[in-house]
Amino acid sequence: MLGLMQDRPLLIQQLIEHAALNHGDTEIVSRTVEGPIHRYTYKEARDRSRKVAEALLALGVKPGDRIGTLAWNGYRHFELYYGISGMGAVCHTINPRLFPEQIVYIVNHAEDQILFVDINLLPLVEKLQSQFKTVRHIVAMTDRAHVPADVKIPNLLVYEDLIADKPGTYDWPEFDENTASSLCYTSGTTGNPKGVLYSHRSTVLHAYGAALPDTLGLSARSVVLPVVPMFHVNAWGLPYTAAMVGAKIVFPGVALDGASLYELFEKEKVVFTAGVPTVWLALIQYMQANKLKLSTVRYAVIGGSAAPPAMIETFDKEYGVEVLHAWGMSEMSPLGTVNHPKEKHAALPAAEQLAVRLKQGRPPYGVDMKIVDDSGKELPRDGKAFGDLLVRGPWITSGYFKGEGGDVLRDGWFPTGDVATLDPDGYMQITDRSKDVIKSGGEWISSIDLENAAMAHPGVAEAAVIGVAHPKWDERPLLIVQKKPDAQLDKAALIEFLSGKVAKWWLPDDVQFVEAIPHTATGKILKTRLREDFKGYKLPTA
Ligand code: AMP
Repeated sequence: MLGLMQDRPLLIQQLIEHAALNHGDTEIVSRTVEGPIHRYTYKEARDRSRKVAEALLALGVKPGDRIGTLAWNGYRHFELYYGISGMGAVCHTINPRLFPEQIVYIVNHAEDQILFVDINLLPLVEKLQSQFKTVRHIVAMTDRAHVPADVKIPNLLVYEDLIADKPGTYDWPEFDENTASSLCYTSGTTGNPKGVLYSHRSTVLHAYGAALPDTLGLSARSVVLPVVPMFHVNAWGLPYTAAMVGAKIVFPGVALDGASLYELFEKEKVVFTAGVPTVWLALIQYMQANKLKLSTVRYAVIGGSAAPPAMIETFDKEYGVEVLHAWGMSEMSPLGTVNHPKEKHAALPAAEQLAVRLKQGRPPYGVDMKIVDDSGKELPRDGKAFGDLLVRGPWITSGYFKGEGGDVLRDGWFPTGDVATLDPDGYMQITDRSKDVIKSGGEWISSIDLENAAMAHPGVAEAAVIGVAHPKWDERPLLIVQKKPDAQLDKAALIEFLSGKVAKWWLPDDVQFVEAIPHTATGKILKTRLREDFKGYKLPTA
């Protein structure tokens, strides 16, 4: 027997309508690429999103068409999120930090019809435009006065002109909730990027899951500043979750340096923020150098890479900010787990509490997880056994756009490529990417654990560990370190520091100092490059 409840589709456009009706005067503040701070309300954002949809219709956009954005976090990008998806097209967010040839590849692979571009990214588009095969229009995300005079893009359209004469009375269509809504290519470190195609249903369910108290815990009283870019898995879904609950949003634009972020945090009384570890390193360094404190920020989500313990402790002790360590991936919309302690953890000694907080956290309802060994056999949830992490759920991908990569699921589960433990309280801890784990004498060494231990040294700005071929042990760890400016540090001191903090046989066989640790376009340590750089390198123990 079926239930007798209404079968209303879950659609993204309902989120902005809900926000406009119930939180119409709540602010959305943006540091614009043009310079000044822009402020308006959810109601105005809704009206302008409708105008965007009307403008797209006027440009001949059809349901299912891919519309690309090359843009930072700002109000026009927010309007595009709703305007494009809401009229049934697909919002394809493009990471401008990718290599130019990757940008060309994904624009062509997605068959983008229109590209919306922030003005400081127009020079990039100018260089690449001749290689775009399907793009019919390029739109500068600004008003006419701010279009750079020297830009050479024929027939360049201007965002404000496009929407100026539109009525803003658009009646959003209703369609199947499984309709594609947005597209984000993963910054694969090998091979071509692959497209993850989100649906209205997956996006709205993810927003519900993300809003839960033990996930991001957002409400109409929250003031949210997403540092994580809107081109990286939809800023971890925050533009949707914030609209769902009516939180004030503060968009930082292109200025993600410590000083600019700090200024926005303080001026806009930001309570909640989210980003990858590298941005927090810069912010903390800026605040320490200038002896500044944070007066309103209470929560910082750290994800995308493991949050180093030193960062968790510094945020907590020096700035009164609770770090919510989170894990996810583009293929998961992205939220998989968020770390909130349970009641029973409060009684634990400080070191054990920190050990819990270092884990990547618990999944909200909607994310199923299991770990398996090489033969696919499920491993125990005892916090010790580690294996390949598999996930499934309504906001997890079933396959890549246009079938790239073939059938990716294993019996209905998505293999994350991460190696993890699960414990009886539901906490997951990543020990490595499966391709980064160091296989020494048949046992596995976690590069993340070693990196975390090294990053706790006061002289270390950033640390990365890779496995290097070894005649006896197969692989042994090499620690690569970027020192803090002026730090006095050598190999012996670092190995001494690590001794006792990790198992003896985990101690790196060598330490190499580099000017800078390389990062991917989404802020992860670029281990493929480090492996390249240290190719043929012989460990002193080999
Ligand atoms: P992306 O799809 O670019 O968001 O990358 C997803 C990958 O980033 C995951 O599969 C993990 O390997 C890594 N990752 C994300 N969050 C964390 C975290 N908190 N700790 C360790 N690795 C993480």
